[in-house]
Amino acid sequence: MKNKMKVIFSAISENESFARSVISCFILSLNPSLSQLSDVKTSVSEAVTNAIVHAYKEGGGEITMEAEIEENKVHINIFDNGVGIENIEQALEPFYTTKPDDERSGMGFTIMQSFMDSVRVESKNGLGTKVYMTKILSKDA
Ligand code: ATP
Ligand code: MG
Repeated sequence: MKNKMKVIFSAISENESFARSVISCFILSLNPSLSQLSDVKTSVSEAVTNAIVHAYKEGGGEITMEAEIEENKVHINIFDNGVGIENIEQALEPFYTTKPDDERSGMGFTIMQSFMDSVRVESKNGLGTKVYMTKILSKDA
């Protein structure tokens, strides 16, 4: 049987560290190296921060984080029900940001893509955004 989990939490900045801690605990059974653990935590932080910062204009939104362990891999999905992304291809480009005045550098998706083995983004205007990420966590990966 596959091990999986799902948490739903408020889209507020305090929950960035909550999400990092939850994912760390969940993947510990796979004995990740410190650098793999750090890659996963950083990528989760970026995806959760995006949902907090960009998805909900009025506040009050929720973020869902799901994870599933499949052999030596972890699949992590982070969903919001916010404004969505109009042009995903453009959003994935390094340095592209819609909040340049807000100390954003436009590197979140680029960081996720470099730290995880795969990253896929789905989004619908007005309905929200889904980020699907996978990381291989075997000792010699
Ligand atoms: P940084 O992550 O470096 O602080 P950033 O968040 O602007 O800056 P990315 O994380 O790469 O950069 O995201 C690029 C753009 O994609 C964002 O500026 C925003 O317009 C859009 N975006 C990302 N995630 C979401 C989301 N969950 N909902 C709505 N828009 C999003
Ligand atoms: Mg970002």
